[in-house]
Amino acid sequence: MKRSIIGGLLALCLLSLAGCGRDVQGADGEDTQEANRDLFAMDTYMTVTAYGARAQEAADRAAEEIERLDGLLSAGDGSSEVFRVNEDGGGRLSEEGAYLVERALEMYESTDGAFDIAIYPVMEAWGFTDGAFKVPSRDTLAELLPLTDAGAIRFDKKSGEVSFGMGGMKIDLGGIAKGYTSGRIMDIFRACGVKSGLVNLGGNVQVLGAKPDGSLWRVAVQDPDDARQAMGVVAVKNRTVITSGGYERYFEEGGVTYHHIIDPKTGYPADSGLSSVSVISADGTLADGLSTSFFIMGVKEASAYWRAHSREFDMILVTDSDQIYVTEGIADDFSSDYEVTVITEETGE
Ligand code: ADP
Ligand code: MG
Repeated sequence: MKRSIIGGLLALCLLSLAGCGRDVQGADGEDTQEANRDLFAMDTYMTVTAYGARAQEAADRAAEEIERLDGLLSAGDGSSEVFRVNEDGGGRLSEEGAYLVERALEMYESTDGAFDIAIYPVMEAWGFTDGAFKVPSRDTLAELLPLTDAGAIRFDKKSGEVSFGMGGMKIDLGGIAKGYTSGRIMDIFRACGVKSGLVNLGGNVQVLGAKPDGSLWRVAVQDPDDARQAMGVVAVKNRTVITSGGYERYFEEGGVTYHHIIDPKTGYPADSGLSSVSVISADGTLADGLSTSFFIMGVKEASAYWRAHSREFDMILVTDSDQIYVTEGIADDFSSDYEVTVITEETGE
């Protein structure tokens, strides 16, 4: 049986979220409006919540922004910029498209090729781009792997001109699009005077400020085996909590589960011993790219990466055997019924 489950609404549930469209009391005693928008975009369910005098405007503008970025960044959308450069083997990108390609190429370098936007032909071969799932033959993957090399992409930062080194090469910004989008929504919130707000893009959460009552937002990290259960809860403000897991999108064939995060070195779904990775950072694009990368890299390499960049982010790793690792920067803000190993600057795996 072939089956696809699009993870989303339940991927990370938000605890103690207030109800819909009502007055709430802010920490400073001021009355403030709450506004919510629910939508389906980027193949997932999304929720936007804002508090403030202009909450409704903020939530509406956020929803428009999500749709705009979906149209710009989706490789499968025939009118998107990414589709156009994929068809043409290159071209001039908009400022935003160029910014994302630049960030993606930086991550390709810093993750030693684990984050590779040239993965699109392999995603197509697996049917993840159109839902016609199939396990590609070894020959097919062997033909496509040389194309999966973002290092061959030529990119001029100034002009936004991109050109692919090889015919058939195609890029996929799906590994960072949601993180970038949630960061943009924080900008919209701030421009609308919102001091407290949240966006949940299919389990990828970003929050502005603290909750209206001044307490921290509590974001649950989903149990990879059971969407209704949490592995733990992390308390945050002004942060994004972005999770990558094999359970987000997958199919089954011959009793084997194949998911959508591909190891560019093999062309097969990553199998690093991790079942989910959550990255906590102020930078949505970084957190999104790194959560995808660490899912491929595994505990040891992810820990080494964190030690080299510990000021930029923290992370929660869940292994296939339900072991949990958290980096020391958020250890005090993470609670769980499971045993938790803290990754420190000096020791750890
Ligand atoms: P989700 O989109 O489910 O939140 P991720 O952020 O982990 O999950 O992104 C997975 C998406 O990233 C895939 O659907 C695909 O578009 C893209 N992708 C898959 N493998 C890689 C890779 N090795 N490098 C960069 N992007 C990837
Ligand atoms: Mg990602």
